[in-house]
Amino acid sequence: MNRERVIAKKRFGQNFLKDESVVLRIVEAMPHNTNRIVEIGPGLGDLTKHIVNIKGVSAFEVDTDLCRHLERSFKDEITTGRLVLKCGDVLESWESELLNEQYDLVANLPYYIATKIILKALADTHCRNMLVMVQREVAEKFSASPGEKNFGALSVITQSVATAEIVLQIPPEAFEPPPKVDSAVLLIQKTADRKSDVFEIFLKAAFTQPRKTLYKNLSARYAKEDIEKALGALDLSLSIRPHQVRTSDYHQVYNILEKGSLYGRRDPGGSSAK
Ligand code: SAM
Repeated sequence: MNRERVIAKKRFGQNFLKDESVVLRIVEAMPHNTNRIVEIGPGLGDLTKHIVNIKGVSAFEVDTDLCRHLERSFKDEITTGRLVLKCGDVLESWESELLNEQYDLVANLPYYIATKIILKALADTHCRNMLVMVQREVAEKFSASPGEKNFGALSVITQSVATAEIVLQIPPEAFEPPPKVDSAVLLIQKTADRKSDVFEIFLKAAFTQPRKTLYKNLSARYAKEDIEKALGALDLSLSIRPHQVRTSDYHQVYNILEKGSLYGRRDPGGSSAK
């Protein structure tokens, strides 16, 4: 397939990286370890051809035309097993096809499902690190610090089990076709395994209305006197906003409200609401 003749398919979020210097900077930022790489959306293989020289790669590509192109371009690597290419929707095959060994995710992600993919990789205990290109706003939500306006449930979920930082900012001109948004490369390095589903439900409640107080948001799910005791135990004001609370304090508030660590065990389903 001649790349000049490739027509990018919007429905698959195709924006191909044409700036070789950006590709090389991503490769340089890859974690130094022996983990296999999972690449989601290799596209024309511009990133793949560098990574596969350094590490074994398992790549998932949904577009059948691109898959045929990759099979031809990487014939030798596929024969030796250096590249395992899976043609299909990664979200449909994650549980059955993704690696059963430690891996790092390195990818210029399709932006329409980037958040979903990062959350799945965070929950997947085999995934150790991620170096992913996403829309800049999305990268900021995962990596924001407490007090910043983008600090939300995604930041807390991520920073409960990993460190997250933006390592590169990429302008639209680096892609063909150029996307309508700025992009950024996000590095997430896991330090622990995922917390429970209930913790994520708790966070959803905490950030329901980001401009309201944490107290008000939580009172849709928990008894007001319990919230007052939990916030008081941590010296948090009742007027504090959700984005002003640190990740470690969220864990403490959660433990008090859901596990009753101050006074008696509560039903994790939240029967104490209101
Ligand atoms: N890695 C290439 C690059 O940097 O030039 C292409 C990146 S492009 C932003 C996203 C790629 O993800 C496209 O190749 C697209 O076909 C693929 N893709 C989109 N949805 C997918 C899905 N559900 N499963 C696997 N691949 C997908």
